[in-house]
Amino acid sequence: MKKTILVATVFIIGAVLIFIYKNQIALAPEDVVPTNLVPGKTTDSTNTIFDKTRVTKKPFGIYITSGNSPVQPEKFAGYHTGVDFETTAAEAGIDIPVPVFCDGKLLLKKYATGYGGVAVQSCNLNGESVTVIYGHLKLQSINPVVGQSLKKGDLLGILGKGYSTETDGERKHLHLGIHIGSTINILGYVQKQSDLSTWLDLIQFFELD
Ligand SMILES: [Zn+2]
Repeated sequence: MKKTILVATVFIIGAVLIFIYKNQIALAPEDVVPTNLVPGKTTDSTNTIFDKTRVTKKPFGIYITSGNSPVQPEKFAGYHTGVDFETTAAEAGIDIPVPVFCDGKLLLKKYATGYGGVAVQSCNLNGESVTVIYGHLKLQSINPVVGQSLKKGDLLGILGKGYSTETDGERKHLHLGIHIGSTINILGYVQKQSDLSTWLDLIQFFELD
């Protein structure tokens, strides 16, 4: 009799534990794993990298030296040709999707010193032909092939892991440059202020949205 009660008790406790376990799984937040990392699919607007409040260190055109840089230690110098979108400490361990900013073909993806993974896309912004440079991506995550037409919002890839070869040792952030014309130029800095005239500030296009 005692044995029967013991077995029944163990069974009931087991059933209760399984019930609690299953309900915890069901209640787990759905956004632990980003759901918008499907290659070629339009990303949703959550945890978007294109957020003005992320531009806290290097806006377009800022003159950087090893002494004055908000990033230390600094290995670059010159006028910043792009806009840097920063990530938070909480985002260090999660995949941050980088959608394309405009409609246009992928022109290049490669590993480059100073960037790690970098991609270049041709676009037309307000009637002007430009190339858009996306720097510090994890190269292996860039699934679109060179020559492929992309629509604004299509997933390009994810940001490279900070302080790794994926970003060539840089912090986890997106460098986005817009170069006027169709010539590919991935320079992140120029040495003469007048050379900034062939680059555009992405933020000006935010005001139009
Ligand atoms: Zn930059």
